[in-house]
Amino acid sequence: MDLTDNTAEAGFREVVKGFIAEHGDKGRMGGGRGSGEESGWSSDARERMKGWREALVDRGWIAPAWPKEFGGAGLSVKEQFIFNEELAEAGLMNVGGFGVMMLGPTLMVHGTDEQKAEILPKILAGEVVWCQGWSEPGAGSDLASLQTRAARDGDEYVLNGQKIWTTGAQHATRMYMLARTDPDAPKHRGISMLMLNMDDPGVSVRPLTTMANQQTFNEVFFEDVRVPVKNRIGEENRGWYAGMTLTDFERSGIGNSVGTQRALRGTLAYAKKAPAQETVLATSGTWKLDFVDRWIEADIARLFSHLNNSIQDKGMVPNHEASMSKLFTTELNQKIAKTTLKLFGLYGLLWDRKRDEAMKGRAATGYLSSVSSTLAGGTSEIQRNIIATRGLSLPRG
Ligand SMILES: Cc1cc2nc3c(=O)[nH]c(=O)nc-3n(C[C@H](O)[C@H](O)[C@H](O)COP(=O)(O)OP(=O)(O)OC[C@H]3O[C@@H](n4cnc5c(N)ncnc54)[C@H](O)[C@@H]3O)c2cc1C
Repeated sequence: MDLTDNTAEAGFREVVKGFIAEHGDKGRMGGGRGSGEESGWSSDARERMKGWREALVDRGWIAPAWPKEFGGAGLSVKEQFIFNEELAEAGLMNVGGFGVMMLGPTLMVHGTDEQKAEILPKILAGEVVWCQGWSEPGAGSDLASLQTRAARDGDEYVLNGQKIWTTGAQHATRMYMLARTDPDAPKHRGISMLMLNMDDPGVSVRPLTTMANQQTFNEVFFEDVRVPVKNRIGEENRGWYAGMTLTDFERSGIGNSVGTQRALRGTLAYAKKAPAQETVLATSGTWKLDFVDRWIEADIARLFSHLNNSIQDKGMVPNHEASMSKLFTTELNQKIAKTTLKLFGLYGLLWDRKRDEAMKGRAATGYLSSVSSTLAGGTSEIQRNIIATRGLSLPRG
C-alpha cells in the first residue's frame, strides 16, 4: 500500500508547512503524550494559545473538519489528516477544544436551527470555552447510571447533582452535559442533553490535583441551577443518543498517533546528547532493545491512524477500529513514558523543572501523567469489550 501523498496532497502539505513557518511560534507546545512535555492546559500554554488561535481563525482553519456551510474549512478527510500531522510534527496545539471537536459536529446533527445559528459562530470565534459534564462519582464506564437530576419546571429544568473528572471546567464558560429527566424510565431512556453557563447561579467548581501535580480536571456541583428548555440538545429523554453521537466524535479524535513518533524522536535526540552519567545508555544494553520496540510500535500506531482515516474517507464512521487505535496508542504512550523514565535511571525520579537532568524533570511528570490516558474517553477494558463484541462478534458479559 502506498501511503505517500499524491500531487494535490503534497501541495496542500506545503501550504500547511508555509502557514506553520509563519505563525507556528505562537502555538508551540511539548513533544506529545508520554513525552512529559508541557500540557496544553498550563496557564502559560493557554496564554500563548490565544495568538495561535487567532492565526487559525484568520486562515479559516480553526475547524478543519467542519463543512463550509457552518463556517468550517471543509477540508477532506485526507487534508485533515495532513493538517493534524503537520501540526503535531511541529509540536503545535490544536486549539479548537471540546467546542470544535465534539459539540459543534453534534449540534450539526441534533441541534435546532436557533442553536446552530447562535452557538456555532461563537465556537469558531473562540468566544466560548466548553467543558464536558458526563462522568459522575457513580457513573463512568456505565455512564447511563448517571444521577444528576434535571426536573422540568415550565420552560426550565432545575438541575441538582454532581459531575467529576470534568476537564478544563475551571476555565470553561459553558458546559454541555447529560442529566436525568425521567427517573422512572429505563436508564438509557430518561436522560437529556443540556447546555448551561458555568457562571449560572448554583454552579460551583472544585479543582482536583492529579498525581502528576497538575490541575486539569474538577468536580462540578449543581444546586437548583435553572437551565432553559431551549438549551436542550435533541428531544427530552433522548439525550443518550445525542450524547453517543458526541462520544463517536470524541473517540475518533483520541488515539491519534501523530504526536507519538515525535515524542520518541525527542527522547532519542536527548539521549544521544545527554551527559553519559545521566543515562543508562552506556551501561544497559536492554534499554536500546526496549526503545526499538517502541519505535516499531509507533509505526503500527500510525497504520491504525491510516486505517481510520481511510474508513472516514469512504464516508463511514470507524467503530471498533477507533477503539483499536485508542487502545493501542494510549497503551503505547504509557510504554513510551516508562521507557523514557528508564533511560535516566535514578535521575528519572527528579521532577524539579528547575534542574536540567532527565529532560528537566519531564521524564517523571510524563510517566505520572501518562497513567490517565488509558482511562480518559473510555478505559482500555471498555475498548476491549467494544472490539470483542462489535469487532469479533463475541457474546456480551
Ligand atoms: C484525564 C481524564 C480526563 C477526563 N475528562 C473527562 C471530562 O472532561 N468529562 C467527563 O465527563 N469525564 C471525564 N473523564 C472521566 C472518564 O470518562 C472516566 O474516568 C472513565 O469513563 C472511567 O470511568 P470511572 O473513572 O468512573 O471508572 P469505572 O467505570 O468505575 O471503572 C473502574 C475500573 O473498572 C473497569 N470496568 C468498568 N466497567 C467494566 C466492564 N464492563 N468490563 C470490564 N472492566 C470494566 C474499568 O476499566 C476501570 O479499570 C476523564 C478521565 C480522565 C482520566
